This record gives sequence, structure tokens and C-alpha cells, in this order.
Amino acid sequence: MRAEPGQAPTWALDLDGVVWLAGRALPGAAQAVAVVRSAGRRVVFLTNNSGPLLREHVAALGAVGIPCGPEDVATSAQAAAALLEPGSRVAMVGDRGLAEALADRALDVVAPDDHPAALVVGRTLQLDYAELSAAATAVREGARFIATNTDATFPTPERLLPGAGAVVAFVATAAGRQPEVAGKPGTAMVELVDRRYGGVEWMVGDRADTDGAFARLAGARFGLVLSGVTKATDLPVEPSPDLVADDLAGLVGSVLGLAPPPVTAP
Ligand SMILES: [Mg+2]
Repeated sequence: MRAEPGQAPTWALDLDGVVWLAGRALPGAAQAVAVVRSAGRRVVFLTNNSGPLLREHVAALGAVGIPCGPEDVATSAQAAAALLEPGSRVAMVGDRGLAEALADRALDVVAPDDHPAALVVGRTLQLDYAELSAAATAVREGARFIATNTDATFPTPERLLPGAGAVVAFVATAAGRQPEVAGKPGTAMVELVDRRYGGVEWMVGDRADTDGAFARLAGARFGLVLSGVTKATDLPVEPSPDLVADDLAGLVGSVLGLAPPPVTAP
């Protein structure tokens, strides 16, 4: 998508599998971001990870050498909250980042068994059968059902862990209904990004089904990196990337025609 006059073209970077794996920086990522910025582009971070607080995302980026502010980070939790009218009664299954986004939207957060008008489900590390059962009942009784995202997995340096999609599937299966998806590739995330940043020139991610589909909806080019969920043996993927690179540093070098500065040990 074309930037507004006077506005820097925006590069949107996914976090998990692009910038880091479970917070452990991927080699060359910070230098690559610096190269994009020095080429006159704004860099923003679009994550489907609804777990951390916004300030934790910002602190984690700073810790790997990527200074930014909260306005540079858009999460699936924020996209989910944006779908709901302030003041409406909503229940959640998720972690602190989702609670923060719902509070920032001035939603009235109630327990799943307290007849919410909507239920938002994200990734949580504290699975509770009774809570999930109440959540499924709320959906079966008519609550609007929103998933922060439906990523099947979450990449870490050691292995893939179950993602939000696995938690969402529990509720969807028990309730017999599929959710609206807010984060990538949901339209709520596209609209959030359009409102905030005025569109995206490049979307760089490690998943075609989320990052690639988002790029198509947002009118952005899709750069696929093989440093996260998707491996070379998984290719080809749909939507087809505009460019495939081993990692962010390689992709930035190809697109901007610049070699990133040499990687130095932290
Ligand atoms: Mg990712």
C-alpha cells in the first residue's frame, strides 16, 4: 500500500521467527532493522502474540538492540479489542497482554460464566478446564466469539509449542462454532494497521497463512523468512511470497540492495 504524502513508507515485521525466537534474538535482526530505518522507512512490529504486556514487547525489542516505542507495536490483542464497543461486557481466556488491551479499550471484563456479550480467546500458559468449559458455554449461549489469532504453533529455539489456535480449537470444538479471527490475517489487524500507520509497503514474516495472507489483504509485498516456523522443505507456500530469504538480514539486503553491517557478537 502506498504511504500518505509526507509519511515514511512502513515496513511491518513479525516478531516471533523474524526478530527472535522466544525472545532470543535472531542473528543480524537488529542490524537489519537499522538498515531499513536508515533507508528512510518506518519500522513497526505486528505480532499475533497476545501474551506479553505492550511495555514488555518494547523492553524485549530494546534488549535485542531495537529501540522503539509502544506506538510501533501492534498486537492481535489490540486488534481483538478494537472489534468491540467500549463499555461492552466481555470475557477472556488469555494472558496479561490481552487483559491490558481489553482494559485500554475500556471494556467491561467479566468472568466467562457471567453471561458476557463477547468472549475473546488468546494464547495462555495457564490452561484451566473449568474456565475453558465456561467459555465454551458462553459461546454456545450466543456470546460473540473472537480469537486473537489461530496460529497452530509458537516457535522457540528448541521446538514448536502449541499456539493460540490450539486453545481456540478447544473452545470452538466444544461450542460447535468457529471464531472471528482478529490478528493476522484477520481484517481487524489490517484495519488497525491502516488507521495507525497508513498502510504497509513490506510485511516480513515466517508464516504464509498469517503474515502472507495479511500482506495480501493489506496490499503489501510479502517477504518470507526461513528463520521461524517455515523451513525450506515446506516451500512452496500459499500465498506465494514476493521474496524468500534465510532471515531478516538477508531479506533486507535483497530488497534494499544493501549489505547489512557485519554481525557482531553481543
Ligand atoms: Mg512469526
